[in-house]
Amino acid sequence: MFVDSTVYSGDCSCGRSHDMVTKAAVIESGALFRFEEYAKRFGLSGKRCVLYDENTYAATEGRHPFGEQEIVMCPENLHANEISTAWVLERLENDVEVIIAVGSGTVHDVARFCAHERGIHFVSCPTGASVDGFCSTVAAMTWHGFKKTLPAVAPDFVIADTDIIKNAPPELVRSGVGDILAKYTALADWKMAHVLTGEYYCERIAEITQQAADAVVESLSGILSGEDEAYERVTYALVMSGIAMQMMGNSRPASGSEHHVSHLIEMGPAGLDVRFQALHGEKTGVGSVVAIREYKRLAETEDVSSHVLDYNDIPDEVIRNYFGEKLADSIIAENEKDCLSALSREALIEKWPQVRQIVASLPSAQEVYDMLEMIGAKRSLEEIGVTDRDTAAILKYSPLVRNRLTLMRVRRMLDL
Ligand SMILES: [Zn+2]
Ligand SMILES: [Zn+2]
Repeated sequence: MFVDSTVYSGDCSCGRSHDMVTKAAVIESGALFRFEEYAKRFGLSGKRCVLYDENTYAATEGRHPFGEQEIVMCPENLHANEISTAWVLERLENDVEVIIAVGSGTVHDVARFCAHERGIHFVSCPTGASVDGFCSTVAAMTWHGFKKTLPAVAPDFVIADTDIIKNAPPELVRSGVGDILAKYTALADWKMAHVLTGEYYCERIAEITQQAADAVVESLSGILSGEDEAYERVTYALVMSGIAMQMMGNSRPASGSEHHVSHLIEMGPAGLDVRFQALHGEKTGVGSVVAIREYKRLAETEDVSSHVLDYNDIPDEVIRNYFGEKLADSIIAENEKDCLSALSREALIEKWPQVRQIVASLPSAQEVYDMLEMIGAKRSLEEIGVTDRDTAAILKYSPLVRNRLTLMRVRRMLDL
């Protein structure tokens, strides 16, 4: 499969011009064997450093792209943080002009961050279909214990070898599916924000993301039976979702209330007992089930006129109580210019029928649950390290992790 992403560059009917850094993506069996051929085709030049962890170095044995320098990180306790990036930057030779990441999410985040620090190029070779961030322009880092999105560079191109991806640990593709099923609520939230507050919306970007979700749904039985084509399509979906984010310039099309559930659990606020951390896509998959269940419940009410409350700030002490001292200041700062304040009581009542229509177009929570179950992915809060008893608190506090308009945030103005 070949994706020419330059076709998404330039003026769009939404009124904006979309700038793509990533030129192309190749997703096929044996793609890494042909790395040089593609490198030439996409105009890659200059001294290279190839970055792996020990697992991905072993998994791609015999298919390593050529590099004047190779850096192999120890996978134990490997996180995209200040420690791993300092370790790589210390070793990275001064005249390297391109970093090639061969690995999963963490290797990619470290590589793209270091490429940004050095002002050099970056090429992506994913070894697992676990997240949609391969084409991302930002890096998801943990900086001195805090989750942060830091500036990074997007890859010039992506070379995804589906032989490697198919043989990766099965929880990776399950996580990738969870990250893509999350697009239903992410897109619904974006559409609702457009309807409710006139937030910018691009039909084309939404369509690309929707197609990514559809491609994954059609691949589920193939993943189960280990078909090459199914792995190719899931990887394609992850790449396309990343391309949509690149067109947008941020994660709006790919991340809504379900990602906020995931982020909340990852942060581990004082009021939430998190027994263990699941993979990103495992959490967003479960986040989707939780969010859709709540959205469908809210949308049962046809006329909300007697249930809409005026906008109200969340008192700082409520945030301090739940998030604890360690996180409270950053959550309070995040919500200082609450996007919900742009929504009036009247507008919410007037637009409610459109909101209900958007919710009606979502699959049911049971359908998403069944899809996750079908491939053996995590389906419930219990399975991702928290308990069902925390559901109400998760619904209430998760929107606060990101100042982005979602129906979950709008819920604060609904007495339902
Ligand atoms: Zn557009
Ligand atoms: Zn995600």
